[in-house]
Amino acid sequence: MPSTILINPSNEAVLREIEHVTSDGVDDAVARAVVAQREWAALAPAERAAGLRRFATVVDRAIDELSWLEVRNSGHPIAQARWEAAHVRDVLNYYAAAPERMIGKQIPVAGGLDVTFLEPLGVVGVIVPWNFPMTIAAWGFAPALAAGNAVLLKPAEWTPLTAIRLGELARECGLPEGLFQVLPGRGSVIGERFVTHEDVRKVVFTGSTEVGKRVMAGCADQVKAVTLELGGKSANVVFADSDLEKAAATAPYAVFENAGQDCCARSRILVERSVYDRFLELLEPAVKGVRVGLPGDEATEMGPLVAKAHYDKVASYVTDESRVAFRGTVPDGPGYWFPPTVLLPASRTDRTVTDEIFGPVVTVLPFDDEADAIALANASIYGLSGSIWTRDVGRAIRVARGIDSGNLSVNSHSSVRYSTPFGGFKQSGLGRELGPDAATAFTETKNVFISTD
Ligand code: NAD
Repeated sequence: MPSTILINPSNEAVLREIEHVTSDGVDDAVARAVVAQREWAALAPAERAAGLRRFATVVDRAIDELSWLEVRNSGHPIAQARWEAAHVRDVLNYYAAAPERMIGKQIPVAGGLDVTFLEPLGVVGVIVPWNFPMTIAAWGFAPALAAGNAVLLKPAEWTPLTAIRLGELARECGLPEGLFQVLPGRGSVIGERFVTHEDVRKVVFTGSTEVGKRVMAGCADQVKAVTLELGGKSANVVFADSDLEKAAATAPYAVFENAGQDCCARSRILVERSVYDRFLELLEPAVKGVRVGLPGDEATEMGPLVAKAHYDKVASYVTDESRVAFRGTVPDGPGYWFPPTVLLPASRTDRTVTDEIFGPVVTVLPFDDEADAIALANASIYGLSGSIWTRDVGRAIRVARGIDSGNLSVNSHSSVRYSTPFGGFKQSGLGRELGPDAATAFTETKNVFISTD
């Protein structure tokens, strides 16, 4: 039986071994999910709502346990991990309201009554990456369950522990057996089987753009629905008229949070040329002030990278030729520690400007005017997130409308709230998660005409 040995990224200690589910195992899980889904969809909406609220309650009681699992498995700082576990609870509570609000339409037609129903799809496969293992899983499974579907969740190979625990909690709170199953193992086995299995009617994929394209191409074969949440290389655009102190003080947290392993990381800071030098002066103490430390310490703001292989990839972007402006510090000893790093790239097409590094590395570039800022922000295959700093409201709106990106914030760096839609333009994705409409994305619209003759 293939397996993965999990390593604690902050000290390189072996955590435990996780056996992989095989392709036949996926088929068995799908068969169980088909049965469970019928039972679940047949329940009264209020009963499904109550089931999701019970799930939220058991997650709430397990916040501490889930957080510490994420600290050890993924190296997330404990304060951040607690937020993530609480977010899973909140997402479940938010979508617990959905079963009783899956509202169709009554459309005026001649000769009868025309109504639409939002029918569940059946079995949904959710494939998640390693950077935010439990939150991203919840964005898929909570609205999918709310809409009356069964869910098979495939965690990333390196970070399955919180997902496995969530699967157990779903059973403990009385959700039907087989309704929410967690299948750890390889993407090329389990993820691929979600794509090829005829009874999996939708795949929600979060991960790299490269694999996402393959998933989308595979889903075409059966005209299977797909939501894609992919990579990013978001811009943090700082105009000369902004609160420069605040923009500089907050910029490190917009890219170094989760050690830069964040699809929304503002990893390109674009600064109006007239304040470029001043901004860098203000940025230096802010970067050096980021508290990089052991994930279990309450004060830690940034932990290690998730794995050695990922550390090597990130490190390949900072070479002897790189123009490093300044860097933060990291703890001594074992662990995959990479310091917050600020680069001044030689050109706008340098690979540190165009590639998603997915680590604590940020580039700072000057721009000339508003049009140049928008053009530079849009000079990317991605379009997931971004921030705009200016005191001019009109400019904030013009630039926000001009940047081809799914999630923008003005004079702040917020991008994820469970009550607002999240997703990318261009090669950052397809479809939206979260917000008031997410459960609808797990349904088919059925139109029924009833004759009055
Ligand atoms: P990845 O694409 O390597 O893996 C993501 C998931 O897909 C894993 O569970 C993996 O096992 C699975 N997988 C691998 N090959 C597969 C295949 N052939 N078929 C089906 N599934 C397969 O990505 P990663 O390295 O785990 O995550 C990092 C990437 O995720 C970054 O590019 C990041 O930007 C992106 N990401 C995007 C969002 C978003 O919401 N847009 C959020 C987080 C991460």
